[in-house]
Amino acid sequence: MFIYNTLTRKKEEFKPLNPPNVRMYVCGPTVYDYFHIGNGRTFIMSDIMRRYLEYAGYKVTFVMNLTDIDDKIIKKSNEENIPSSAVAEKYINAFMEDLNKLKIKKADIYPKATENITDIIDMIKKLEEKGAAYSAEGDVFYNVSSFKDYGKLSGKKTDELESGARIEVNDLKKNPLDFALWKNAKPGEPSWESPWGKGRPGWHIECSAMSCKHLGETIDIHAGGNDLIFPHHENEIAQSEAANGAEFVKYWIHFGFLNIKEEKMSKSLGNFFTAREIVKKYPAEVLRLLFLQTHYAGPLNYSDELMESAGKGYEKIRNLVSRLKEKISVSPEGEDKSGFDFESFLNKFKAAMDDDFNTPKAVASVFDYAKEINAFIDKGDNLPKGFFENALKTLSVTADDVLGIISKDEEIKQGDNKLLEDVINLVLEIRSDAKKNKNYSLADQIRDRLTGLGVIIRDSREGTTFKLK
Ligand code: AMP
Ligand code: ZN
Repeated sequence: MFIYNTLTRKKEEFKPLNPPNVRMYVCGPTVYDYFHIGNGRTFIMSDIMRRYLEYAGYKVTFVMNLTDIDDKIIKKSNEENIPSSAVAEKYINAFMEDLNKLKIKKADIYPKATENITDIIDMIKKLEEKGAAYSAEGDVFYNVSSFKDYGKLSGKKTDELESGARIEVNDLKKNPLDFALWKNAKPGEPSWESPWGKGRPGWHIECSAMSCKHLGETIDIHAGGNDLIFPHHENEIAQSEAANGAEFVKYWIHFGFLNIKEEKMSKSLGNFFTAREIVKKYPAEVLRLLFLQTHYAGPLNYSDELMESAGKGYEKIRNLVSRLKEKISVSPEGEDKSGFDFESFLNKFKAAMDDDFNTPKAVASVFDYAKEINAFIDKGDNLPKGFFENALKTLSVTADDVLGIISKDEEIKQGDNKLLEDVINLVLEIRSDAKKNKNYSLADQIRDRLTGLGVIIRDSREGTTFKLK
């Protein structure tokens, strides 16, 4: 298996430090708002990498941090006049709900900055002892000139950076490139006790400390969006390697931006769709399929037309699943002696994924497989149940377990009636609007009438689901 490593700028054979274990860390969200599908691209593509590594037999420990203290959270807490911890809690819950909606597997650990302050402080102390950090009036800064490899990830040279204009100015810094490890408390801001007085951690140190705490000094994979290469990941390397005296990360993976009209989707430009609004319009599988059809490292321009076209691809897979399920229920018992070459498809799928997670090729192999299976069924007589079971299993371990593009909803299991499902979802949407407008009697009436028709609905925090009696 080969992975493009941002650090070496080469595709390299993937050799984990301690196989079959793989230690993977992905920079997670700053929890001050709902996340948009640009962030979603990073979350979905890292999920697919993790699922594929598991498919390939690795035992992955997957850690994603939650930045739950930062300027944006404090700003929101002041605007809404609620504690910053309440802002973080609200958006952590929303984040978890949205991951679930996008069919993203839960990380093994979601460490929060505010719950790891002691580890963060310990790492800063270590850096101070080693002469890589200095304090000034309650702030602590990383001394960039003390780290000779600074710039090795981004390929930026320190002298060029120093003349760059976009560096935060702060009179307390010895060098403009130095960055904050610890920030002195400002009035009204949340703060924690530390050897330098009350304050809060900087953003970069959070990832170095939590990655080390949960995965060890050297990890296999660290991933995030392209925008994190500099300064965030460059600074993480400087902190971790100076503190631990060990290589921090073997393979650095970076995701290309999701753009809209050639511009990066971002909160500040206002050109975004939240994940939760998209999944109201399209099944999560369609968004996943759209992302999969472009290589993770390149830019991807989002448009409704692309979503419509991904939707057509999704229908093809869905129709095949229905067809196979129906065939399983009506075909005669018997082993598969058809001679259909399932291995050849699995080999193509693996070869694509082994080549730096080439998901466009992997998806193309799934569509070819669907075409071949459909043609095989069209001309085959009396194929036994065993054949259809193999066909479904092969589709399920690839397109479902790894790519997550097959819907698992109850309705499909219960008869594949797409129109009925769409109509019930429409009625449920109207009911949800009625509840939002506090028209509870209408909402209850809808529920009772649906129950009378044999549609059992269940409300939960994640939304409403239904089952047919
Ligand atoms: P944030 O909450 O802004 O810190 O972002 C969370 C993750 O999403 C980071 O790994 C970012 O690099 C990534 N990200 C933000 N915007 C985009 C975008 N438009 N396309 C792809 N990834 C993004
Ligand atoms: Zn990070």
